[in-house]
Amino acid sequence: MSMTSHSLSSGIWNTADLYQNAVAQLMEAANTMKLDPNIAERLKVPKRALVVSVPIRLDDGTIKVFEGFRVQHNMTLGPGKGGIRFHPEVSLSETAGLAMLMTFKCSLVGLPLGGAKGGIRVDPTQLSRAEAQALTRRYTTEINMIIGPDKDIPAPDVGTDGRHMAWMMDTFSQERGFAVPGVVTGKPIEVGGSLGRAESTGLGVVFTIEHAVKYLNKTGKQKLTIDNSMIVSVQGFGKVGSIAALEMWKRGARVVAVADYLGGVYNKAGLNIPELMKWFEAKRTLVGFPGGDAMSNEEMLALPVDVMIPAAIDGVITDANVGKVNAKIIAEGANGPITNTALNQLEERGTFIIPDVLCNAGGVIVSYFEWVQGLQNFFWSEKEVNEKLAEVLDNAFAKVVAQKEKYNCGMKTAALIQGVDRLNKAMLLRGLFP
Ligand code: NAD
Repeated sequence: MSMTSHSLSSGIWNTADLYQNAVAQLMEAANTMKLDPNIAERLKVPKRALVVSVPIRLDDGTIKVFEGFRVQHNMTLGPGKGGIRFHPEVSLSETAGLAMLMTFKCSLVGLPLGGAKGGIRVDPTQLSRAEAQALTRRYTTEINMIIGPDKDIPAPDVGTDGRHMAWMMDTFSQERGFAVPGVVTGKPIEVGGSLGRAESTGLGVVFTIEHAVKYLNKTGKQKLTIDNSMIVSVQGFGKVGSIAALEMWKRGARVVAVADYLGGVYNKAGLNIPELMKWFEAKRTLVGFPGGDAMSNEEMLALPVDVMIPAAIDGVITDANVGKVNAKIIAEGANGPITNTALNQLEERGTFIIPDVLCNAGGVIVSYFEWVQGLQNFFWSEKEVNEKLAEVLDNAFAKVVAQKEKYNCGMKTAALIQGVDRLNKAMLLRGLFP
């Protein structure tokens, strides 16, 4: 068979920008580290994908069928792990790209887990609670045969939260006839969740910012301190963005702008994040917050800041707007918020990128802790969870910086190299069946 018959351009996977970006990042890392091309060939495509139709009865009595996906990219290191996304743009290809990033993330931070991702193509803001529950339960039944505590363990992602995980756990458990809390993570505490899980991704983002600041100061590339002199902007005020904003605010930084899909708010003196959280809780929008002025997403992305935290969705910093981006550090709270070509331009300009697979890994690290605590039926204090989270991220950050210095490459490539390196060794040891 010729090499061209393996071309991804004609494959079913290769339609979403996020997937193409993930493959391009993998190949950049593979070329830099001189990875065995046979391993790269296997990592470019997912191991398995399930496409399901999810019919539900809407509140008005009509039946609507939604498209759902679960993709398992690589399970060399352990069961699949990755969130469930409810968003109108979800596709098989995007889910595959996100599953691939999960593989590299889990490997990079040293977890015994593979990479997976799932989602439903739906606008969750248009669903009532009953419809969201029916959709989640029917989806769980449809993917039931490939998930489980030792197979593949979903978690929340964009548009889903602890409620959805409780419904997934309950549906899976009903079908087995007994409680199976280990089938999902990100559960509410009452049904086997871990203390600290809800905050873990945002907190992890801030831990990596602290490391980046120390690293830049040590290498003389920047002089930054996390106090009132530090100007921060955040895109997305969901599970990741709101906690990252709060943790930066708690450390004294000036979070001057926050935006979500409906628009944003700006205050030169710094937004009062706890007040903004209260406003958002009550109104479900940032718009109209009395402690700041209105600001659009595009205006926010062009603000001169020390730290920008894109924590919404992928592909928000592109060739079209990268010229206006003016940040010393960009902490990728979201998965894939910067396209590859935009990222290259930013790195050339000296912007320090904290790559997604490192920056937002706090979520999967504490998901892993939740799974371990559940399997042992022995739960830790929040202090213990956060200390262990910090330890794993300290190690991971140091390893990525070591790869950056060894290969004289950007942080993105260094992070991918660290992730691929461990996986490569495990794949070579396990060999190829048959
Ligand atoms: P969420 O649903 O809680 O919040 C998403 C936020 O993004 C909302 O504020 C929404 O308004 C905003 N948003 C959506 N579309 C937007 C647009 N077009 N422009 C501007 N804002 C937009 O989701 P989340 O869990 O906070 O996830 C955010 C990102 O972090 C995603 O990329 C996700 O994959 C990634 N992530 C999440 C976790 C986690 O534990 N939740 C872990 C790792 C990575």
